[in-house]
Amino acid sequence: MAGAPHLQPDQARARAYARARLRLSLASTAVELAALVIFLGTGASVALARFWERHSAGSPWFVVLAYTAIAGFGLKLVGLPFDLCSRRLEIAFELNRQSGRSWWGDQAKGLLIGGGLALAGVELVYWLLRAQPERWWLWAWAGFTAFVVVLAQLAPVILMPLFYKFRPLREDDEREAELRRRLERLCERAGTRVRGCFEWQLGTRTVKANAALTGWGPTRRIIVSDTLLADAPAEEIEAVLAHELGHHVHHDIWNGLALQAALSFFGFWLVNRVLLALAPSLHLTGIADIAGLPLLVLVASVLSLLLLPAANAFTRALERRADDYSFAAMGSAEPLIAGLERLAARNLAEHEPPRWKEILFYSHPAIATRIRRARAWRP
Ligand SMILES: [Zn+2]
Repeated sequence: MAGAPHLQPDQARARAYARARLRLSLASTAVELAALVIFLGTGASVALARFWERHSAGSPWFVVLAYTAIAGFGLKLVGLPFDLCSRRLEIAFELNRQSGRSWWGDQAKGLLIGGGLALAGVELVYWLLRAQPERWWLWAWAGFTAFVVVLAQLAPVILMPLFYKFRPLREDDEREAELRRRLERLCERAGTRVRGCFEWQLGTRTVKANAALTGWGPTRRIIVSDTLLADAPAEEIEAVLAHELGHHVHHDIWNGLALQAALSFFGFWLVNRVLLALAPSLHLTGIADIAGLPLLVLVASVLSLLLLPAANAFTRALERRADDYSFAAMGSAEPLIAGLERLAARNLAEHEPPRWKEILFYSHPAIATRIRRARAWRP
């Protein structure tokens, strides 16, 4: 049961794919950071802000809006070639199933939604910078944290359906009804319940498979990709559901939100210190000068990069615990091992990446690490 031989991915291809993806993401990060440094360092940012101040009839709201829209769009354009390369990479490795038209549709939707939220966020932050120059970062952190918590609840019902179709597992389908029964039994034994289990239609975009726990309160649900439901035996899917149930039982959505709140608290504080220190030498009129926005983004981005290994160590620990939960709930590690091997094959995952790569970049333990732990598990 530990994964039929035909499910073993071609590890040379998986390694080539992983290497290309890492190179691409490092290159795009480096180029985007460099673009921000150049925009700020050459005085272009200050020039753009002054231009809009002369054409704003004295409204700081308008200056922030016009500046952010143009600078944000410029940054999006800098990143676009990398997004296109990433799509080409998925096509080259035969992982992509999405038409060009649908891909551009996603880009447009992402730009509208992401851009709209970013504009609103920047307006709010700069209003706080003007109104509360001493305490702005504390209020901004509180607002950001509240927004992230609300978004975590609404994402499964509002945001994700804009990009993917979801439907509850059906009662009238024999396989799906069987999965529902298995999930209910798992929940009963755990003395808990989740609000629903949904099929997540990934298959029109990618051959990759995935499952996740999303939402909180009334929107809490387990989602399983159609690409996994299509060919995995019920027992393997049950083991994956048990893993997701482990996240539910351990309140991992809240653990993730708490980590984010803690890291962003430090982030907002640091942004404030850096703004105060560098505003004069960047020729900003003060910390509330919109020309300093690239500095905020730079500090936030560099800090996120530096904290990534710590955040990943945290999520890898949650993943290990959810794996252990699945072993115990199933009374055996074998079904999850088979499920993980199937997922790895479908997603062209590198079984055993270099250790440093796992430590720096992996939000989940590598497949080989997870399987080693599974094999060592005893009831
Ligand atoms: Zn997980």
